Amino acid sequence: MPLEHPTKYDVIVVGGGHAGCEAALASARLGARTLLLTQNLDTIGQMSCNPSIGGVAKGQLVRELDALGGSMAVVTDRTGLHFQTLNLSKGAAVRSPRVQCDKKAYQFAMKEIVETVFGLDAKQDEAANFLFTGDKLTGLETKRGIRYRAGAVILTTGTFLKGVAHVGLDHSKAGRAGEAPSDRLSEGLASLGFSLGRFKTGTPMRLHADSIDFSKCAEQKATENPIPISHRTKNLDIKQLSCWITYTNETTHDVIADNLDRSPLYSGKIDALGPRYCPSIEDKVVKFRERIRHSLFLEPEGWHTKEIYVNGLSTSLPEDVQLQFVHTVPGLEKAEIMRPGYAIEYDFCQPTELHATLETKSVPGLFFAGQINGTTGYEEAAAQGFIAGVNAVHKLKGREPFILSRDEAYIGVLIDDLVTKGVDEPYRMFTARAEHRLLLRSDNADLRLMPKGRALGLIEDDLWERFQRYRDSLENESVPSDHELSPWSGTKREEQIAATKLYAPYIEREKKQIEGLKSMEGERIPDNFDYASIPMLAETRQKLSKIRPLSLGQASRVPGVTPADIQMLAVWLKRTLLKR
Ligand code: FAD
Repeated sequence: MPLEHPTKYDVIVVGGGHAGCEAALASARLGARTLLLTQNLDTIGQMSCNPSIGGVAKGQLVRELDALGGSMAVVTDRTGLHFQTLNLSKGAAVRSPRVQCDKKAYQFAMKEIVETVFGLDAKQDEAANFLFTGDKLTGLETKRGIRYRAGAVILTTGTFLKGVAHVGLDHSKAGRAGEAPSDRLSEGLASLGFSLGRFKTGTPMRLHADSIDFSKCAEQKATENPIPISHRTKNLDIKQLSCWITYTNETTHDVIADNLDRSPLYSGKIDALGPRYCPSIEDKVVKFRERIRHSLFLEPEGWHTKEIYVNGLSTSLPEDVQLQFVHTVPGLEKAEIMRPGYAIEYDFCQPTELHATLETKSVPGLFFAGQINGTTGYEEAAAQGFIAGVNAVHKLKGREPFILSRDEAYIGVLIDDLVTKGVDEPYRMFTARAEHRLLLRSDNADLRLMPKGRALGLIEDDLWERFQRYRDSLENESVPSDHELSPWSGTKREEQIAATKLYAPYIEREKKQIEGLKSMEGERIPDNFDYASIPMLAETRQKLSKIRPLSLGQASRVPGVTPADIQMLAVWLKRTLLKR
């Protein structure tokens, strides 16, 4: 007999990964009684692949999340072991923080925050079935038969939906190496009518540090004066570790090429699409035959472990082949594999089935965030988790949806791209995806978004006061700043002022363009708008009916919709609104 849990929750978050933690924290901090239900409490905040946070465009996402009240950046500062600012020699618009973290310390630090936030319960079990009362979603039943009730449910199931792991031609059901997949929930989603697709991703082997000859590798020292990634961190008191660089060579490539028939990717065992920008070494060898070497970064996984992550060597070839080709690399001749590389295939849901709040269009009260929406990467997942968590609470409390626009944040670009265009390959963030990237810099994430975080109620008084003093000192250069190195902007005040001056003419031009676009964004389309009678291509009508854009601006970004279609839509929209 199923057991009805006595607590009536406002929000249930399924999954304790990067999306799940931010969703649950945002929800509880906004005053909602929240349950974080996850298969294994020990894997809260686990970095399935590279233990690093940030990077180009991803670093901007983390800073934005931090400025709004998220936790990823704070945990990163607490557990970082190698800090860098990427693209330092280039302009401020493309500079990004990247931090290599201690993998286990990161998980424990995130778990501690989850466990201590008021109103948030974390429980270990697997969500198995959706519960409805009539046609209203009212909760979930777990594999152990416990029924939890809530007003809203957020799914953040990552790579676990019908996950299958591959090492060579061997494969097994798994959400991640050594962890069970989530099959029943996937079946439940299909029966609710969601269109599920299949993607794959992969990870490199981990090597034992004592088996590596670092004298044959180039040392990559961490930056001497690390800058915190979080606006909340006042001092970084950490011991940094070096990373190392080595290279594959033609012998490595020959071993890989000779064994492609044993690769699940090339023998036809996996036909799901993987992230184009994180290719496996098999892909690199096949697609870039002219390259005589590929760089490999040897990155420590923590202060208290010998495991070394081999960045650049993602593979799903059999373990004997992994051992053979890794031994051809200078410094790795005697390397011992502690964990082999592997690939994972999983189900995702097409994000065009979502509103910009990340609530599903067909099941009110059900939200999706993270890899389940076809994205890849911790930062993309965390940003979506936060947005879903905030909007679930706003919906329950009858507040306005919280939606960021494309000119306000990379988070706005991310979600608009997902819900408007959908995905045909795993989606990761790039600066090139943002048309207003001069505005969306990592150094000004606080100036753009902290007032919004404060309005949400997620910025504490102390931080808000420090931010206001900092903002005043930027606006009036004669006012002395009490911190030359602003702990919350990660850039010197003088550099911030210089970037603002340097980009001023371009930003002025962008702002004018944005004003023009804003008028289109302001033209709201009613949710029940009937596209059937508009004289446009049937295919365009179908697309718009499926996406149901919120505004003319969003409609104009639906792939295949032309400016002429938008003009037509504007006319019909006006007629419809006049008739009401
Ligand atoms: P996850 O971090 O996967 O977390 C999902 C959570 O949901 C887990 O805690 C799981 O236990 C829980 N869960 C699932 N189903 C249920 C259920 N029914 N009930 C309760 N709990 C449930 N990203 C990159 O950017 N580049 C890469 O190269 C890359 N390589 C990867 C390689 C591998 C092998 C894997 C597994 C992932 C890789 N990733 C990579 C992806 C990266 O790990 C994800 O993008 C990120 O972790 C997604 O975060 P998430 O919160 O959506 O999901």
